[in-house]
Amino acid sequence: TNPVYTGLPTTIFEVMSRLAIEHGSINLGQGFPDVDGPEDVRRMAAEALIAGPNQYPPMMGVPALRQAVASANKRFYDLDIDWKTEVLVTSGATEALSDVFTSLIEPGDEVVMVEPLYDCYVPLVRRAGGIPKMVRVTPPLWKLDLDELAAAFSDKTKAVLLNNPMNPAAKVFTREELSGIAELCVRFDAYAICDEVYEHIIFDDRAHIPLMTLPGMRERTVRIGSAGKTFSLTGWKVGYVTATPRLLDPIAKAHQFTTFTTPAALQSAVAFGLAKEDAYYAGLAGDLAKKRDRLASGLERLGFEVVPCGGTYFVTADTAPLGLGGSDVEICQRMTVEAGVTAVPVSAFYVGDAPKTFVRFCFSKQDSILDAALERLGNWI
Ligand code: PMP
Ligand code: GLN
Repeated sequence: TNPVYTGLPTTIFEVMSRLAIEHGSINLGQGFPDVDGPEDVRRMAAEALIAGPNQYPPMMGVPALRQAVASANKRFYDLDIDWKTEVLVTSGATEALSDVFTSLIEPGDEVVMVEPLYDCYVPLVRRAGGIPKMVRVTPPLWKLDLDELAAAFSDKTKAVLLNNPMNPAAKVFTREELSGIAELCVRFDAYAICDEVYEHIIFDDRAHIPLMTLPGMRERTVRIGSAGKTFSLTGWKVGYVTATPRLLDPIAKAHQFTTFTTPAALQSAVAFGLAKEDAYYAGLAGDLAKKRDRLASGLERLGFEVVPCGGTYFVTADTAPLGLGGSDVEICQRMTVEAGVTAVPVSAFYVGDAPKTFVRFCFSKQDSILDAALERLGNWI
């Protein structure tokens, strides 16, 4: 077997969701909304399934979706994207990430990443022969130290991987941090691989700033989005990649032998969704901001130390003040079995030595579910 995968544990999201099902607990672990996204978008998919055709759509994605992705880039970020040569549809952001690392990273290339990080990054980079170079940010502010970042770059750096807004830290990178990253990419002639799946889940009057919009970045950035997050339809697995043709061409070669394509009906429905009115996008973030506040204030009342959340649908919280004992992994297991509430241990998002008292809760749930989870936790603590 390939050493990258030998001994690799099952992803924490699956582990915790299985445990939650087994114990009938409220699952605030794996990140998914408990109410499906817009009915008109789902209806579009249903109608397209019946009307057909249900055969292979074009390898790059159905034209309507590629056009919609390009239009959304113009509408939200004033980016001019050629839908014919600069947009690729994938089966979720996960496939996009796999295609990007497979095609852009050669053995021995270094990839700079910010830890804590989403769990598929490191195995995918290693499988491509790449070498992860970690820069760590720490709670509660998760500030990126630009000197530490600069020290992680070298003449072997092929790319920086940036997840903004960032899972699990719920950090939104500041313009100053982004400028520092961009400057290093230009200086070291590196690509930027930007996982921006939470681009529309951003709070408190912040605006999402794609790294691609910064000076010198348009031609060296790969921008990845996901309909799963933007339309609360995580099971659809529709993702999209935006990049200059020089980068997108090899990525599309990886895609053609990975999935080749993505269900046509879902693609056309997502095309319809991306063109939805501003109120839809404002509502998505507005509703989630209220849920964030509901869960965060409830956790604080119970004695958790909640880390500020600027984007994504996750809050991380320090359990240390509760004196529960054991590691974050043990705490999450006990919380599932004894309290009937499931969270994810934040140590799962680290490669090296990790803090062992932080847990991550997903708040994209009905208010009654969040309240019930808080009540159960209150009875348990
Ligand atoms: N990147 C991040 C940071 C995520 O949180 C997720 C979560 N689902 C993904 C990528 C994967 O997205 P998709 O479901 O579209 O593959
Ligand atoms: N991105 C989701 C999370 O962070 C999980 C996706 C998955 O289970 N693969 O919870």
